[in-house]
Amino acid sequence: MEQQGNIFCNVCGKKIKIEQGILREDVLKVEKEWGYFSKKDTTRHVFHICEECYDALIQTFAIPVTVTDENEIV
Ligand SMILES: [Zn+2]
Repeated sequence: MEQQGNIFCNVCGKKIKIEQGILREDVLKVEKEWGYFSKKDTTRHVFHICEECYDALIQTFAIPVTVTDENEIV
């Protein structure tokens, strides 16, 4: 959901803080163009999930997310 440059968490509806066009909070953006083999027939889906909701979401995963430390990649 994007309105007038605002970004909302699609899970909890919280407004993500933006100052002068810069995101002040990190947020997960999911963008997916579904193909012919899906039941969604080439529609484009976009949603945002705030960090709190992301943490709650990944708790429900059967297999945990893969975490790598970006600082260790040179
Ligand atoms: Zn949220």
